[in-house]
Order: sequence, then structure tokens, then C-alpha cells
Amino acid sequence: MSTFNGVVAEFPFVRIDYFRKISDKPAPLVCFLSHVHSDHLQGLESLRSPFIYCSAVTRELLLRIEKYPHRMNFSKGILEARKQHYGHLAKLLRPIPLNTPTEIELTPLKRIRVTLLEANHCAGAVMFLIEGQGKAILYTGDIRAETWWVDSLTRNPVLIPYACGLKTLDNIYLDTTFAVKSDIYRNFAPKAEGIKELLEKVEKYPKDTIFYLRAWTFGYEEVWQALSAFLDSKVHVDRYQYDLYKALTVRSHGGTGFDTATYLSGFQLGNGFVPGCLTSDESVRLHSCEPGAFCQTMKSKKSVFITPIVTRHGNGVDVPEVGAGGGKGDLYQLHELELPDEITVQRLEELLSEHITDERVLSQAKETLKLAFASRHRALSLDEFGLAEDADISLKDLASMLGNIRRLSNRNLDEETSADTNSITFPYSRHSSYAELCELVQAFRPKEVFPCTVDENRWDESVSMESLFAHLCSGSQFVHDKHLRDARGEILEQESKRIRYTIMRDTRRQLQAMGSKVHFNIGPLPHDIDQILDDHSQGSYETTTATNSQSTREDDHEQASNTSSVRISEQRNEGKSTPVAESASQELICELVIGSQDTDSEVHSSSTSNARINRLRAFKAARTGTFDAWNEISIVSAGNNHAEEEVEL
Ligand SMILES: [Zn+2]
Ligand SMILES: [Zn+2]
Repeated sequence: MSTFNGVVAEFPFVRIDYFRKISDKPAPLVCFLSHVHSDHLQGLESLRSPFIYCSAVTRELLLRIEKYPHRMNFSKGILEARKQHYGHLAKLLRPIPLNTPTEIELTPLKRIRVTLLEANHCAGAVMFLIEGQGKAILYTGDIRAETWWVDSLTRNPVLIPYACGLKTLDNIYLDTTFAVKSDIYRNFAPKAEGIKELLEKVEKYPKDTIFYLRAWTFGYEEVWQALSAFLDSKVHVDRYQYDLYKALTVRSHGGTGFDTATYLSGFQLGNGFVPGCLTSDESVRLHSCEPGAFCQTMKSKKSVFITPIVTRHGNGVDVPEVGAGGGKGDLYQLHELELPDEITVQRLEELLSEHITDERVLSQAKETLKLAFASRHRALSLDEFGLAEDADISLKDLASMLGNIRRLSNRNLDEETSADTNSITFPYSRHSSYAELCELVQAFRPKEVFPCTVDENRWDESVSMESLFAHLCSGSQFVHDKHLRDARGEILEQESKRIRYTIMRDTRRQLQAMGSKVHFNIGPLPHDIDQILDDHSQGSYETTTATNSQSTREDDHEQASNTSSVRISEQRNEGKSTPVAESASQELICELVIGSQDTDSEVHSSSTSNARINRLRAFKAARTGTFDAWNEISIVSAGNNHAEEEVEL
């Protein structure tokens, strides 16, 4: 799933495949859309300017895509259905033909040249070659970089200078969905091999077998074509899908349909119409109609389910495709529940608790909700719960629908386990294997590669652009790696600070609890302790020294400790400080200070000698650096005889 934020450093006035406002970036002068998968459309629903350039097929599909984002209206007690579409973009979407370098004037002084290149991913999907102002980048969007496809790119007249080294790409913004060195994703069977395997399997079934292809998103158009031609049958799709592809039959500006899609939707030949391989006729042998609302044939006859997979493990186990690389469910009219904020999630959880009595179902439903909220999209798919209504429903009905989660998952399980003879899988990845990505990068030897699909939480050096592609690049700087390394460094630093500060604060509280039995003062707390610990109640110390807090939080501990250190004994709370508590606190401090090296040492009952021992151990620990927290707490003498204590330390 694309995680790209739309910005290319080489052309900061351009935005690609991500259209939300970015706070520290100026509004774009031009936008590009690579294809219609939903993970590349973010923010497009509310975009009002500037022009968006894309392929003609992408434009026609996008203008007909419909979604049904549902919103909970708690005051009315209903789930409100809304219809979302991109019709308002008709005037902004500007199609550019493939392989045609096209100059775009951004300002009277600023021009770029863009070339759209077929991406081998789904209907209408393209890459963008953008050139101008002495820079050149290739933005791939999503691609399947099969060998034949990379070969065709290196022969493309516009790309030849970059392939032969006359010109150099400054950057390739790459679909890194499967860019890992793991064996599983290293090599994928070519799509043609996958289709060959599928046809061989299909051929073994009786001639009247009904087949259902789980084409859950855009990108299986060629599988439809292959099955249709091989079995000499049209493919039944539901009305929504049929209308989507039908739109490709006639160009909106007149003329015949798109060559790239005529096999799907047909074309006009003289006075007659030659149909494509898709049909709205339910009586055919091949189906890809909506799974939630099967047609009569699918409902009444037993069928063989065909499921595309990414690849197979060495031991032959399938690597499933659904959801991989984004776009899940894009081919159907999606119904989803928007989860804009935590309050909505909380209220929905309360609603579920009210209406679901089975504890296991309840916790399962809550878990599903949590995962949906944590997703980038912040929405829960309702299609999976069987919602096909476009009208409002009551929140009570919503709760009982979400309570059906176990029944649904059990049904899927039954379907899978009993489906051995009734299911076919075949490898057909719409994204590139690592080896294929290497072929593409090697063909152009760009200065740099920038990943467009990154899981920042799991990022490590093994998936850095440097480790994956540096040997195929002509440069050695990888901006994205640097960005993540810096971010990780900051996180690690924050984490170690948090641990240190927590120990400091707890230690301080322990010392406070010991009251007058301790005869040394502690220096200032670091100025950023509240921010780091996200805790604004720093105990009695904070409360009682509130007016003094600024002056005790200087960075210069030395100075602060000498001028404004606070004597612990002044902060003691007589009521709470019992001898037992003090002794326990002292023990804890001793343990903290001396660590495991000295655990069997005797804990002295005399508070005076304890204080003395503590001071010495703290000093020793601080000197040897064995207890980091003490380095931050300036230990100073504050007894009656300052000079003597200093000498002792
Ligand atoms: Zn895609
Ligand atoms: Zn059907």
C-alpha cells in the first residue's frame, strides 16, 4: 500500500498520488495521478485545484467510481449513508496519451515535460517521467517490472537516453511493496506463466463447470481476457463494474474507445458493435460479480473458485494476494464506516458493549475496530459484514451487524476447508519482486531511489534503499534512508531520555520520602522533563516549588545546584513519612545505586550511617558512570557544615 506523501524534492511544485494538504509545503501547481487504486487517491475527493494529469483510462474510470462512506450520527441514532464520487473532478482531470512527451506550462517561466509510460499493473496505470529545470525523475506508481516490460522501457525512444547513460535520472520513486531480500519475495513467476498454470488447471474440469474469479480490485483485466478467450465464454460482472469498463468504449471527447480496453468493453465496427469479454448476462460460465451479491447462476450452481496469489513459498504454500499492495475491494461499491477520531471509536465500543452479549464476539469486534482505526485509511469495511444497503440504518442494527463477525469468519473457514477440489490458485502478482525491481533500477542506474511503500515501524537497515539498491545506482546519497535514520535516532534518544528521567523522578520522590534523614540536596530537574514524561504532576516537589521551578530547571546544573537547590528535608511530609517507609525507601535507593554488584550488602538500620553510605555509593556510581541517573541529579551537600560535607564527598 502506497505510503508516499506526494512530494518529489526535485519538483516541489508537483504533487503525485497524494492530495491532502501538507502543512509545511506550498499548494501544488500541478498534480499527477498514476492509477485508480484507492491508496493513491487520498485527498482527491476534496481537491479543487490545480489540474490533475493522468491516462485517459484512469480519467474515465475515476469519474465513475462510487464509494459509500458511512458516518455514525449518535444524536439521531442512525448510521448515515453517503455517496462519494469524483464527478466534480471532470474539469480538472486532463488525460495525456501514453509515450508522448508533453510540455506543461506551470507559470510563464516554469515548464516541465511529462511522459506517461504503461505500468503493467492495472487498467490505466502509468508511470511518469518528469523532466525540466535540469532535473529528471521517474515516478513509477505501482508496477510489475517483468523482464519483458523492463526491456520494452529501455527501447522506448523517450527513455533510451537514460538507459544508455547519455542522461541520468536524478531519482526513481519506486513501488517498493515487495522490496525485501527475503527468499519469498525475491522471484515471482511471470504473469504469463501464472495464466498458463491457470488455464491448464481450468482445462481439467468438465465443460459445463462454472468458474468464479476473485478479482477483488482493478488489475485482473488480462486474466478475464485469457479465460474468456480460452473457454470461449464472456465474463459476468455486476452492473457497477460493467458500467465502469463500458465507459472505456467511447472516448468522452468523441472517437472510438481505448485500444488498451477494447477487449473488455468492446468497440464500434462500422454500423455494428463488437462486444468485449465482459457481460451483464448472468447465464455464462465465467463470473467475477460482486461476492456480497452473487448473481442467480452463482447462487444456484456449484462453482470453482479461482484465487490469484502473489507467489508460492519453496514448500508450495501460497502467499495470498488479497490486500497486498493496496486497493482492496476497489472493484466493488465499497461501504465503509468512517472512524475519524478516538471519541467515535469509544462511542462505537460502548454501543457494541450494549448490544453484544457474547464476551468473545465482543472482544473480537472491538479488536477489528481497533485495527481499522489504526489503519492509514481510518475506516472499517462494512461489505465484509454483509452491508449492501445504501440507505440509513439504525445504530442498533449496525451493532448487531458487527456482532455477526464470528459467524462470518466461521463461514469463510468452512468455505476454505471444504473447497479443496473447488478452488484453484495461480501466481499473479501485480507488484514487482525484488529481483524485478533490481532489473529496473539497473537498466537506468539513477542517482538515487526513493521508496513509495514503507512500513516505518518495521524499518531497519536491511530494507534501506542503500542496502537494496546502492549497487545499482550511480549516486550514493539516499534521502529517505537518512530521513528514517535521523527519525530513529531521535526516537532512541527520546526513549533513553524517558527511562533516565523516570528513574530521576522516582529517585527524587524516594529521597523526598526519606525527609530529614537525608543530608544532601538534589539539583534541578531537566527543563524538558514534563514534555518527555508527559506528566505534569511531578509530586509534592513540583507543587511546593512551583514558583521556583523555572530557576531550578536550568540546563547548567552546576550553577543551578549551587544557587537554587532545594533542601529535601524542607519538603518532607511528616504525616506520611514513617520509619518503615523511610527504611524501605532507603533500601530501594541502595539497590538502585549499587545495582547487582552489591546486593548482599548489609542495610544499616541507623539512618545517619545509611545517609552517609548512600552518599558515598551515589558518588562512586556517578564517578564510574554505572548509574546514569545520578549524573543528571547534582548531588550537593546541604548539611549545617557545607564545607565538611563537600570535603567528604
Ligand atoms: Zn495499485
Ligand atoms: Zn455472476
